[in-house]
Amino acid sequence: MSHVVVVGAGQAGASLVAKLRQVGFDGKITLIGGEKVPPYQRPPLSKAYLLGEMAQERLYLRPEEFYADNNIFLRLGTWVREVDPAAKTITFSDGEQIAYDELALTIGAVPRKLPAAIGGDLEGVFAVRDLTDADAMAPAFTAGKRVLIIGGGYIGLEAAAVASKLGLEVTLVEMADRILQRVAAAETSDYFRALHMEHGVTIREGVGLDCLLGQNHVTGARLTDGTEIEIDFAVVGVGIAPATILAETAHIKVGNGIETDAHGRTSDPHIWAAGDCASCLFHGERIRLESVGNAIDQAETVARNIAGEDIPYVPKPWFWSDQYDCKLQIAGLNSGYTDVYVRKGDAAGVQSHWYYKGDQLLAVDAMNDPRNYMIGKRLIEAGRSPDPALVTDPATDMKALLKP
Ligand code: FAD
Repeated sequence: MSHVVVVGAGQAGASLVAKLRQVGFDGKITLIGGEKVPPYQRPPLSKAYLLGEMAQERLYLRPEEFYADNNIFLRLGTWVREVDPAAKTITFSDGEQIAYDELALTIGAVPRKLPAAIGGDLEGVFAVRDLTDADAMAPAFTAGKRVLIIGGGYIGLEAAAVASKLGLEVTLVEMADRILQRVAAAETSDYFRALHMEHGVTIREGVGLDCLLGQNHVTGARLTDGTEIEIDFAVVGVGIAPATILAETAHIKVGNGIETDAHGRTSDPHIWAAGDCASCLFHGERIRLESVGNAIDQAETVARNIAGEDIPYVPKPWFWSDQYDCKLQIAGLNSGYTDVYVRKGDAAGVQSHWYYKGDQLLAVDAMNDPRNYMIGKRLIEAGRSPDPALVTDPATDMKALLKP
């Protein structure tokens, strides 16, 4: 009987094993997770869960009994130390070995840390990647405390929104010229800067962290412009690095993440990868999509291919972020955009930003505008690009753009 071993019991790992059974794979399945809790969703860790509005059990992707009911052997609290592609075995951190026929790596990513030399290991400096991180920092999120958020990407901004809602004094520093610079257009940065300022968050752009101050516990921060601020704790949101060490030591090809082919296979024919740890080709470029949508879709494609199908993975990028009462939804991938067109909705704050490369529609950022998000998504997936003049014209019936 064939044995599929999946290392990494997160979003991608859980999706992969469920899909394997759904498509009728009747061999043995083992899902291995280093964390002690069943596979869970991470997005609420910087949103509802951090706000205290969601119980831990609600984070779980499936009830724990799902795995036993589907004859999936779930091994939690177990770290895999090594993969041996020649022997087709994996080794756990306690030295135990098990054999596989097909192996999938769904090991996610690790948050980038601040170096200890600039105070990165002081108490009161938190990362936001897993449940342990969220539980460690949640008690610090109490009214009146002063928090410094380092990094103006989505995770930093979401943490800032939670802190502000809970009555903390929030300062966010972003080393680049503007928040969200790596991922969005200036128009989207402007929107979210204004939103945070309305909520009393101090946003410092073009200013980095020089160092954190304090003996054992962080008490302050010096910024690159020389200013010093007093803080009670800091949240670091400066990006993630794909988890690749298991692949590297097994001599599997790694570039920007574990490299996969169109079917999700790595450079070893019996090893697959999906989710944040994996890179794939999209319009000729090797990319990694750090999102729930990608983790699910890529993992499900891998499952179907392991089960004997022969289907390529076609990324259909989508993402969301919640900050205060604003839901941002993103469809497509904006890399290489040349122009951005803004469509304002009827109500305050309802807005969408349409990214074009020449006359080709690439992506849409929709703020409290689910209708235009859906329209944008469908147009992008169909490879259609409406005239930007129509997109910005308030008189345009946007739904009509979908008509052939
Ligand atoms: P993960 O979910 O990280 O799972 C990987 C698992 O592998 C982990 O549990 C890890 O412990 C385990 N593992 C690693 N190495 C080993 C080993 N050697 N042995 C055993 N186990 C191992 N995406 C969105 O689309 N929208 C959002 O709003 C959004 N918000 C987010 C907010 C936060 C705070 C975070 C952290 C992420 C957010 N994301 C969001 C991103 C999204 O959660 C990830 O893209 C997704 O979880 C990736 O799934 P994955 O399975 O690849 O990795």
